[in-house]
Amino acid sequence: MSDDCLFCKIISGEIQGDVVYQDDDVYAFRDINPQAPTHILIVPKRHIPSMNEAASGDAELLGKLLLAAARIAKDEGVSEDGYRLVINTNRGAGQSVFHIHVHLLGGRQMGWPPG
Ligand code: AMP
Repeated sequence: MSDDCLFCKIISGEIQGDVVYQDDDVYAFRDINPQAPTHILIVPKRHIPSMNEAASGDAELLGKLLLAAARIAKDEGVSEDGYRLVINTNRGAGQSVFHIHVHLLGGRQMGWPPG
């Protein structure tokens, strides 16, 4: 837990989040400013600021994030039509909260390339 991290505060319950899934390692909640009909953030409970700080020892945890995202996509009913998983890393890619999170976006047609 990092004291000044928004997502750590959501995970701890200090700030309320609209949680959709959690287990021992993973927490998932709806994005407050959704960019698609389904927009969920899947985060590790352990604080890792970005993919730049992820290490080989985090491989299992990172895999759990992706598997949780796929499960949530199925539960949300977007897996058949399709969905997008995005991990913004650092400011140039649009990262604004420095706690690794996978964006799960679905429920509409996606464009490519992303902006
Ligand atoms: P990123 O820009 O990739 O770091 O994504 C951060 C995401 O966190 C954005 O999509 C925000 O809308 C979302 N966000 C910010 N504050 C909250 C909050 N309190 N609850 C849920 N999502 C949030």
